[in-house]
Amino acid sequence: QPVAIVCVGMAGSGKTTFMQQINAHLHGKKEPPYVINLDPAVLHAPFESNIDIRDSVNYKEVMKQYNLGPNGGILTSLNLFATKIDQVLNLLEKRTAPPEPNDPTKKPINTILVDTPGQIEVFVWSASGTILLESLASSFPTVIAYIIDTPRTSSTSTFMSNMLYACSILYKTKLPMILVFNKADVKDPSFAKEWMTDYDAFQAALQEDENNNAFGGQEGSDGMGTGSGYMGSLLNSMSLVLEEFYAHLNVVGVSSLYGTGIDEFFEAVKEKAEEFKRDYQPELERRR
Ligand code: GDP
Ligand code: MG
Repeated sequence: QPVAIVCVGMAGSGKTTFMQQINAHLHGKKEPPYVINLDPAVLHAPFESNIDIRDSVNYKEVMKQYNLGPNGGILTSLNLFATKIDQVLNLLEKRTAPPEPNDPTKKPINTILVDTPGQIEVFVWSASGTILLESLASSFPTVIAYIIDTPRTSSTSTFMSNMLYACSILYKTKLPMILVFNKADVKDPSFAKEWMTDYDAFQAALQEDENNNAFGGQEGSDGMGTGSGYMGSLLNSMSLVLEEFYAHLNVVGVSSLYGTGIDEFFEAVKEKAEEFKRDYQPELERRR
C-alpha cells in the first residue's frame, strides 16, 4: 500500500524545495512518486505534478472575482479544489492499484507527495484542508512532514514556539508526524535533537539565552527574559509537556538544497507508515 507524505510548514521553511529533493530521490531509485501540488499561489514549481491545483483553479482570477486578498484567494482556491476530492481519490486509486496483467510496464505508485500552501494555517486550520487530509488518510497511510527552518529556530524561544505549533498540528490532524529540520547546510540541527532528548541541555540553553538578553538583548529590558520570572516558569512547564510530545515524533535533519538526510527521512516515513497502520487506521475506522 502506498504511503502519502504531506509537507506542511511555515512560509519559507522549504516545503517546496524539500518536495523537489525527495521527488528527485525517488526518481533516482526508479520509484517515481505521485505528486500533488496544493499551493495555488506558487509561481514556479521546481517539480512536475501529476495533480496541480493551479490546473483547476486560477488563484489570481479567484482573488479578482471574489474581491479577496492573497490569503482569502488561497483559501477560496483550496475550497474550490476540495469539491473535487472524489475525482482526486479516483485518480490516486487507479494509479496505486496493482498493474494490469496485460500491461506489466506500468509500475504502481509507492509514494504520494503533497505540497501545501505557504501559509500553514490556510491548510491546517481550514475546512477544506481538513477534508483533503481526512480523505487522503481514509485511503492511504498518511504522514505529516513538518518542515522547520532550522536557522530561524535556533533560539530557545523560537524553538519552543515552533515545537508548540508542531504539537498543535499533531493534535489537529491526528496523524503521525516527522519533524524535518531543514537547511542543515546553514545550521546544524543537532542542537535541536539535543534539546528534545536532554532536558538539562535545554535548561542550560535557556539560561544562556537569558544571560545574553541581560546584556542589552531585546527581551531582557522588560523583565520578560526567557530564564526567569513568568516567561521562565512558563517555558519550564511547557518543556515538560513537550517531552511527552517529543516521545511520539521522528526527527531528521536535512538539507533540501544539497540532499543530505533524505535516506534518514525515508526510514522515518517507513516507521510512521507502520505506526499509522497500527495505531491510526483502527481509530479512523472506529470513527467512521
Ligand atoms: P516554502 O515556502 O516552504 O515552499 O519554501 P521554499 O521551498 O520556497 O524555500 C524558501 C527559501 O528557502 C528558498 O529561497 C529556498 O532556496 C531556501 N531553502 C530551502 N531549503 C533549503 C536548504 O536546505 N538550505 C538552504 N540554504 N536554503 C534552503
Ligand atoms: Mg512552497
